[in-house]
Amino acid sequence: MLSKTYSNTIVSWNDLKLEAEKSKIPLDLDLLQLAYELANQAHQGQLRATGEPYIHHPLATAKKLIEMQMEQDVVIAGLLHDVPEDTSVTIEAIEKDFGSKIAKLVAGVTKLSNLKYRGLERYAENLRKMFIAMSADIRVIIIKFADRWHNLTTLEGLKPEKRERIAREALEIYVPIADRLGIGGIKTELEDLAFQWLQPKEFAWLQNEIASSLPMLEDNLNQMEIELKSIFIKDQVKIISQSSRRKGLYSLYKKLINHDRDLNRIFDLIALRIIVPDISSCYQALGSIHAEFTPLPGRIKDYIALPKANGYQSLHTTIFTKRGDHSVIDGRQVLEIQIRTPEMHEQAEYGITAHWHYKEHGATKADTEQLKWVKDLVEWQKHISNEDLVDNLKMDIFKHRIFVLTPNGDAINLPEDATVIDFAYALHTDIGNSCVGARVNAKMVPLNTILKSGDVVEILRDKNRKKPNVDWLSFAVTSGAKEKMNRKLRELDA
Ligand code: MN
Repeated sequence: MLSKTYSNTIVSWNDLKLEAEKSKIPLDLDLLQLAYELANQAHQGQLRATGEPYIHHPLATAKKLIEMQMEQDVVIAGLLHDVPEDTSVTIEAIEKDFGSKIAKLVAGVTKLSNLKYRGLERYAENLRKMFIAMSADIRVIIIKFADRWHNLTTLEGLKPEKRERIAREALEIYVPIADRLGIGGIKTELEDLAFQWLQPKEFAWLQNEIASSLPMLEDNLNQMEIELKSIFIKDQVKIISQSSRRKGLYSLYKKLINHDRDLNRIFDLIALRIIVPDISSCYQALGSIHAEFTPLPGRIKDYIALPKANGYQSLHTTIFTKRGDHSVIDGRQVLEIQIRTPEMHEQAEYGITAHWHYKEHGATKADTEQLKWVKDLVEWQKHISNEDLVDNLKMDIFKHRIFVLTPNGDAINLPEDATVIDFAYALHTDIGNSCVGARVNAKMVPLNTILKSGDVVEILRDKNRKKPNVDWLSFAVTSGAKEKMNRKLRELDA
């Protein structure tokens, strides 16, 4: 169970075909086969560093894309993604056989692989390229995720420095982007694979620790599943399914480091996931559980009313599984429960891509926000040095996000540690420039006040005021606010 995603599995054309037949998304097998034959021809005689025929790589990439519920153009582009780069078959030839949409996707992926820089410079350049490719067509990044995922399963053929570079890039660039786009499935796999290569000793240590705790936790979980089942029947709560999920190894590792490496202090190594048909059933299920089992204070999270910035929604709670004495809090006596609808589950696994196949429902609010985020990034990165790019991104993507509300109840998405002035500029440049004060939860506060999720913020303005105060730069944390202020200040200087 532990190592299912961590080793290379050979994918043949037949395996890909079987996967395509199972796919929920309709795929044209004949066209897929034509793409396979072209790729197979083109890569004829080439070997991977691991010694296997090259074609295994595009086949594995395409299979991963099918598992990620990608549509036909993306799967075909996945099969062809290394053809123009490594063989004599050109983009023009691909366009002639498969049309301009697929050719464009392949060209987008090819562009992203021509890297020239090292260190910080290279990191910043990679980020820039990524954002531009994403804004042109976000599916290019999805193909890169699948490509990098397979590369990470076949690193043993490479020299240590190259291994490390590829794993580090995955962790520092692809993982935060996948996270920000809400694609939890591939994010966790990329992260765990990179972790395995970057910290092999820690990885092995963690696998051992888990192996010794897991059986007991699983017993506990199975018993809860049975108990809850009868509670839900008694309370007439509609349930679709109950299942368990194990926390990703890398995210578990990061948590353990902050908890004295003591697995008993981690409450969500495995969690029970309950899928219910609709939102009201989510709250009913939570109510039923809390009526029977004492919840741990401070661990009830309503991501339905206040979704995470990447669109994630669920109710979370952690309960004592034993009735009676709750004086000792230990991971062995508590259980995290996540309650969600099937739609929320799809969103959590596939993020921004979850809705592509249900066009009749239109884009969700989270989708629109994510696409806007990508466009903003592209605009913003044009005006900034490599060093600032990397620093600011650490703030913007790598940090957790909060939701702050306007008096009308619109949720504005900001990084943790954002201040009132960041909020003002996130609403509009003019609101920022004319800002003279603010009320947070109806109390007057200074502009450098750090906001929390759920704060209601009202910006007080002087309509005659049209410029930022230079001091604001010292406590603004978002790149957006800083950029808008700097632009205005430059204008006034000129
Ligand atoms: Mn590749």
